[in-house]
Amino acid sequence: MSAICTSLLDDAGASGKGSEGVQEDRTKKMEPAIDRSRLAAIVEGSDDAIISKTLDGYITSWNAGATRMFGYTAQDMIGRSVTSIIPEHLLSEEQFILDALKSGIRIDHFDSVRVAKDGRLVDVSLTVSPIRDEAGNVIGASKIARDITARRRSEVALKAAVEAARRAQQEAENANRAKTEFLSVMSHEIRTPLTGISGFADLLKHTTKLTRKQQRYVDLMQSANSVLLKVVDNILDFAKVESGRLELEPRPFSLPTLVRDATAIGAVSASSKKLRVRYDVEPGIAEWRMGDEPRLRQILHNLLDNAVKFTEAGTITLDVRQEKSPDGLGRIRFAVTDTGIGIATDRQPLLFRHFSQADSSVSRRYGGTGLGLAICKRLVELMDGEIGIVSDLGNGATVWFTAHLPDAPQVVLEAKPDTPANRVPPRKARILVVDDIDTNREILEAFLDEGGFSAHSVGSGSEALVALGGEHYDLVLMDIQMPVMDGIATTKRIRGLQPPLRDIPIIAVSGNVLPFHVRSFLAAGMDDHIGKPISREVLNKRVHRWLPQLHSAEVAKEETPAPFDERNWSVLAKIIGKERANAIVDAFANELRRAFKSTIENARHEAHDLINCAGLLRFERLLDACRELAASGTDDLHLLQIKLEQVRMAQAIAIQTLERRNSPKKSHRKLLQRPRKPVLTVAVSDQ
Ligand code: ADP
Repeated sequence: MSAICTSLLDDAGASGKGSEGVQEDRTKKMEPAIDRSRLAAIVEGSDDAIISKTLDGYITSWNAGATRMFGYTAQDMIGRSVTSIIPEHLLSEEQFILDALKSGIRIDHFDSVRVAKDGRLVDVSLTVSPIRDEAGNVIGASKIARDITARRRSEVALKAAVEAARRAQQEAENANRAKTEFLSVMSHEIRTPLTGISGFADLLKHTTKLTRKQQRYVDLMQSANSVLLKVVDNILDFAKVESGRLELEPRPFSLPTLVRDATAIGAVSASSKKLRVRYDVEPGIAEWRMGDEPRLRQILHNLLDNAVKFTEAGTITLDVRQEKSPDGLGRIRFAVTDTGIGIATDRQPLLFRHFSQADSSVSRRYGGTGLGLAICKRLVELMDGEIGIVSDLGNGATVWFTAHLPDAPQVVLEAKPDTPANRVPPRKARILVVDDIDTNREILEAFLDEGGFSAHSVGSGSEALVALGGEHYDLVLMDIQMPVMDGIATTKRIRGLQPPLRDIPIIAVSGNVLPFHVRSFLAAGMDDHIGKPISREVLNKRVHRWLPQLHSAEVAKEETPAPFDERNWSVLAKIIGKERANAIVDAFANELRRAFKSTIENARHEAHDLINCAGLLRFERLLDACRELAASGTDDLHLLQIKLEQVRMAQAIAIQTLERRNSPKKSHRKLLQRPRKPVLTVAVSDQ
């Protein structure tokens, strides 16, 4: 046994003295020399470095494991300070360990670094225990050092690999974001001039007496324009798919109407080829469904377009069935079958990949980007469905898909149809167009003019603020990308003005059509959004939606209000006195007149505030409509607008009822258009 080990065992023996009871008796009985030699063999045979030292850090024992680990022999190290194997920058750490030991604290698995004789750095895990004398005083320490260099290296390598993977993913995400951003900017840049082309072609078609040849040129221009728009839409959708930004907006819709409309549009393009287009909807299928109707329409148009494109003679059928899925979720199965050129079996799975066409001759002959079916596949997946093709080359094709479209309440049924009657405003509403591009302003002005509105346009945000301060306007159409003060900044400035200026409805007009763009417009205080290129119909509809006084007057004209129910007033008067009951009715009438003329967000609050009074005075229709609107979530703008329209109808009727009570002969229209007055708000519960 070496002197080193003996020395260590002396220490260990000292520390073992403290043990008690049976164990101690047995130990006492054992032959101490045998005991020591066993222990020495264990210490010497260990792969770990086992060292002991005094409390001021001088080494008192050094085993073979320590020699293997650090290259120093016991002779080299005994009597030397442990600091000789500690890197300079870790000396304070050693001091900390010694201080801890003096307080009798044991240190377990403390990771550190030591320097070997040849200068190598050795990663070690240290366990340091105090050594005590018979009286229990700490007189030194035993230190077990385990070499963890290999483990450390693999940890470092793993960390580096994880970091590299994270960086690669980050770079891929950045690249993807940059690509989406680029595509969305490109789409915006293309949409803006497209507005010019399609808008002026439309105006040319309607405003000038054209020869047949000129008419045909305009038609061709418009059809080329719509093809270009479809390509832009596809590229933008593709970008959305790639970045995971494609979002569905489910709403109630009528399934048979969707099928009928889609087929009718398919039939228009099929008519030049003398193809028949028909649809077949399974009888008994529930009409009202919840789903993203525009996206379903997009899929159906794509499939019907393809069917027409690749069929020279025969029939195209759109078949719609209810499907019982194994997961219990009912799905609707749509299938478009044609009698065209068909698709070879081995090419079929490829068609749902991006930019993929059956073969290159197809793209030469028929054109197309090869994006349509890939986008359809993604949309169908978002609808919790599947898509596939059944076809034989030369024998036509069936492209089918399924979609989860649950039954829906018939909310849409109650929406007021957009009849020509309510499209004619009773007075010319004044609309301010804000756009820095001359052609856009000209087109918007011309469209508005044709729609019976009085339009005035300005070229910048600051001019818009001046115009609003100078004259009365009913609505603002706001471009987004403008130099100096963009549409968002201008809207925020308008919303910061004094009432009623700040309450004017503002509709964003922009080529940025991604959902997150639209959300940012609404967040800035705008009420609605129209995508470029602008269509005359969409513009007309949106403007009418946001001009409440025009609607209210029209609605009021069509419906006869019930007379004011004096019985409720009498009950109220009995409780709080005639004067106060009349004050409540007047305040309610004032508040009602002033309400629902600004933003949809305000409308929700106003509806909430009107509930008490409407209930108290038994305006049941208004009460229901206000309750519905106030309880609506803010995420479905379309549904909110439908509910707001219902509130406005009830509002117009209630106003008439109240006005007739006060002065039966006054015309409701005159009253509706009275200048806005300051409002006295009466809290009914304060009686
Ligand atoms: P594109 O926009 O180029 O038409 P799609 O993704 O819609 O792209 O279609 C991809 C390809 O699938 C088409 O180019 C065509 O080769 C094939 N295809 C799609 N539908 C049909 C069909 N009904 N009959 C024959 N080939 C079809």
